[in-house]
Amino acid sequence: MDFCDLRRQYSFLRKPIDESIAKVLEHGLFINGPEIKELEEKLGNYVGKHAVAVSSGTDALLVSLMALDIKPGDYVVTVPFTFAANVETILMLGAKPLFVDINPDDFMIDADKLTHFLENPVDPKTKEKIESGRIKAMIIVDLYGDIADYEKIEELAKKHNIMLIEDAAQAFGAEANGKKAGAYGDIALTSFFPSKPLGGYGDGGMVFTGDANMAEKIRKIRNHGQEGKYIHEIFGMNFRMDTLQAAVILAKFNEFDNELEKRRKVAAFYDENLKELEDKGVLKLPRIKENNKSAYAQYSILAENREEFVKHLREKDIPSAIHYPKALHLQNAFSDTGYVSGDFPMAEEISGKIISLPLDAYKTEEELGEICKAIKDFY
Ligand SMILES: *Cc1c(COP(=O)(O)O)cnc(C)c1O
Repeated sequence: MDFCDLRRQYSFLRKPIDESIAKVLEHGLFINGPEIKELEEKLGNYVGKHAVAVSSGTDALLVSLMALDIKPGDYVVTVPFTFAANVETILMLGAKPLFVDINPDDFMIDADKLTHFLENPVDPKTKEKIESGRIKAMIIVDLYGDIADYEKIEELAKKHNIMLIEDAAQAFGAEANGKKAGAYGDIALTSFFPSKPLGGYGDGGMVFTGDANMAEKIRKIRNHGQEGKYIHEIFGMNFRMDTLQAAVILAKFNEFDNELEKRRKVAAFYDENLKELEDKGVLKLPRIKENNKSAYAQYSILAENREEFVKHLREKDIPSAIHYPKALHLQNAFSDTGYVSGDFPMAEEISGKIISLPLDAYKTEEELGEICKAIKDFY
């Protein structure tokens, strides 16, 4: 059994994917071919924003920060419990990450802690108060395919005059009150890393914004800041998605809503079959907010005695993954940010207990039953 079976997905979608790739090989426009624009239009319509295709989710974060003119010395608020790309891109621009801890329900940013932090923000290194206006942006992460609590977050961003970036790398396809992931904040982004809910066959990302001028600026940044050929209007680089990747994603996008339904069915199967273990207090299952529909990038649970549990699953040939084993403020690569162990107790606790179960749109009931049985056997 694969944790996320991309080969099986290909066996179902082979024909449209092969045809879409073949079209690119025929027309030969490997950079900026027509599939790029088609993908931007389709995904832009889906989300209800302007869309700009880029080379990866990480680059989408970098481009978003560049588009907001984040400069050395600026502060950017984000979470310590996610994939590392948020911190990397902030540091890449010479800016300083400020972490706010996560909440124990959905493991995304704790809106109350954020409220409190923004009232009296302090530099983690100097311990001095941060003057108002120096926090330029927030990168809020939609974890595991669900959407963060943007009602409160957008209000705070407005109140403190901070630009808001929605990192929907894991949440493309999700909805909150009928509004799609990628539609929040000043700029939003997603990733097409192969195992994401809408994955390509390589790296790719998309930036979304409701602001047409901002979309134009992002288009320039991704193409060396060019206004016309060899006329470099603003600072940019090569952040382009290639046409072949767009062709793959376009073919998969036709099936995407069906696949989302299937992912939700897998999650519902786990919910139903593992509930008794939650009632016993040995597992904690995902909490999706009432009006939200998760894209279930992951089905991640808190598990007692995780290391033994993983070993038991491995013995039964059941793969699992840990998203994420070490909070970002404790990572060696980011030790210069000024944070220490104990600063974010929730992120630290959750990283010791979280575990993701196998999930893709094509898992069979038989496989899911086998997984749940192995889990019940252990507990
Ligand atoms: C995957 C991911 C990214 C990075 O996307 P890539 O396409 O792998 O560069 C950024 N943020 C989050 C939350 C992610 O899960």
